[in-house]
Amino acid sequence: MRIQTSDLVFVVGFLVFVIIRGVFEQRTKGNVKVVSRRDGRELTVMAVLGVGTLVLPILYLFTPWLRFADYRLPAWASWCGTVLMSGALWLFWRSHADLGENWSVTLEVRQGHQLITHGVYRLVRHPMYAAIWLFSLAQGLLLRNWLAGWAALVSFVPMYFGRTPREEQMMCDVFGQAYRDYMRQTGRLLPRVNVRH
Ligand code: SAH
Repeated sequence: MRIQTSDLVFVVGFLVFVIIRGVFEQRTKGNVKVVSRRDGRELTVMAVLGVGTLVLPILYLFTPWLRFADYRLPAWASWCGTVLMSGALWLFWRSHADLGENWSVTLEVRQGHQLITHGVYRLVRHPMYAAIWLFSLAQGLLLRNWLAGWAALVSFVPMYFGRTPREEQMMCDVFGQAYRDYMRQTGRLLPRVNVRH
């Protein structure tokens, strides 16, 4: 075992991330789902993300197996990683809090589902995925290993690009014009810039 300060920042960030998830999973446990697009593809991309954010970091931190892929990073990388991690955790918590009972881990719509367009959802449609991108970047800057560090970023690519269009299609099917109007006013990950001529 060879834990450095930046590794500890990652471990604490990861635990906070899991606690936020756990709290909201409990709160939404009783939800009745009326639409579900959870399928084999969804479960596969979620499992791949689990390898990137959990399995490889554990191997890096607690075994010597990934040592061949270790590298050095300057001190500023850890500071940037810490700032990104803090931003990721804030956004992850805020997006869960704003979605409230309407959150689910996969593509589902619950009974009485409400379209949320306030809070962090006022500017972007996918703040929770933006938080996961930030977390993945932070992981790369905190863990000094090519494999464990950048695994989350690589493993989130199929999930983000596979899921986002399907999620937006599902939301259009359920909320119709209201979601299409919302799409026109917001960006996916960054606020939309309205250029007036
Ligand atoms: N893509 C969003 C939410 C991820 S959680 C984000 O990144 O923040 C996924 C679930 O959230 C979906 O199954 C859908 O039911 C729900 N959802 C997504 N956007 C929503 C919105 N604006 N209002 C209400 N529910 C939403």
